[in-house]
Amino acid sequence: MSLLTQAPKGTQDILPGQSEKWQMIESVLRDEASLRGFSEIRTPVFEHTELFSRSVGETTDVVQKEMYTFLDKGGRSVTLRPEGTAGAIRAVLEHSLDNAALPVKISYITSCYRYEKPQAGRYREFHQFGVEMIGTNEPAADAEIICLADSIFRRLGVRNLSLEINSIGCPTCRREYSQALREYFRAHYDELCETCRGRLEKNPMRILDCKSPVCSAIAKGAPKNLDYLCEDCRAHFEGVKKYLDAAGIEYKINPSIVRGLDYYTNTVFEFVSNDLGAQSTVCGGGRYNGLCEEMGGKSLPALGFGLGLERLLLILEAQGIELPGKRETELYIASIGEAASLAAFRLKNALQECGVAAQCDLSGRGLKAQMKYADKLGAAFTLVLGDDEIAAGKGELKNMKTGEKTGISLGETFTSEFAAASSGRIL
Ligand code: ATP
Ligand code: MG
Repeated sequence: MSLLTQAPKGTQDILPGQSEKWQMIESVLRDEASLRGFSEIRTPVFEHTELFSRSVGETTDVVQKEMYTFLDKGGRSVTLRPEGTAGAIRAVLEHSLDNAALPVKISYITSCYRYEKPQAGRYREFHQFGVEMIGTNEPAADAEIICLADSIFRRLGVRNLSLEINSIGCPTCRREYSQALREYFRAHYDELCETCRGRLEKNPMRILDCKSPVCSAIAKGAPKNLDYLCEDCRAHFEGVKKYLDAAGIEYKINPSIVRGLDYYTNTVFEFVSNDLGAQSTVCGGGRYNGLCEEMGGKSLPALGFGLGLERLLLILEAQGIELPGKRETELYIASIGEAASLAAFRLKNALQECGVAAQCDLSGRGLKAQMKYADKLGAAFTLVLGDDEIAAGKGELKNMKTGEKTGISLGETFTSEFAAASSGRIL
């Protein structure tokens, strides 16, 4: 296939018929977010490269291998956002949103870009729904964002998800833990992959997130974060569990969750599904108490999550959950001749103004071809207008399912008569 008619590898077109599913999911996401006081933020698709290398972390897979980075015509290095948090927090700090009452609660639905090996559930352009809460260190806040994700899944009817949580502590307990990890991994140095050998001294926790089968097998026996938490971090984690219990949310503690981005502290969590194959995480998030300060702002505790929309759709499809397709055409008005064509156009507009999905011929087709088209649209009703109908000011509405016909006036009462004849389908 020619390059001109083929989308770049790892990208997907969202076509008519499919986009309606996205819109429905997006409306649920927006509604659940606003219900809990999260307001939408929209940030640029590209940012200064440094924003991501500093926040996501130089030693992460995302920064080392996956970013779409290029020089613009002014010679500045810019990067297509690989995730949503860094840009959102940059915007919060730039516009001093943190001067308002805390916590600041924001959400977004955004495209992300990562140069990855494309496969089911893993793309180079993908979409995330994300939320961020800035300015609270209370365990209730951790539970709140987990509840938000949970209620989204429940509202969409998703089954068999498991919530896995862990705490990776603060920089103080991290130091001791990193030391323990270094000692452990040093003993396996020769078996580690090239990248992980590089990570050993700089950022040994990253080895826990390595996707190579050898490294992940070694990582299974590594010391556990939870055993190295300081008193405050332990109490925080206990608090999160209490709030989740209070909300009736089931969770498993999974000490091997560390998340792929460096900015995380304390609580980390993932919603995992068996319906996704190798890419089993549909939603991942946690706290990032050091990020605002790292980015040059005040020291503000914060937290959030990212939920992959392609993966969510894969789960919904795998579970046979019905989602809307194209909007049904309620009425197709066919016409023969110019006067009827004008009348059809006028009546169609009148219906559309009342919120009825009506259509008429826009292609200069003959009657037979128009009826074929109406059939393809799956129109619930049809109406055929010709010189006789125009002269009489009356037509016949046909219910395409039952074949039943009803007389209808083409005058002032047209829309209300259609409402009545379509028995409450509309208006
Ligand atoms: P993974 O371990 O699967 O690579 P990740 O830890 O890199 O995921 P995050 O950075 O936490 O993922 O992003 C949050 C969510 O975004 C993921 O849980 C997933 O649903 C989605 N996601 C991440 N990378 C991709 C991708 N390349 N294609 C599609 N969805 C993705
Ligand atoms: Mg990844």
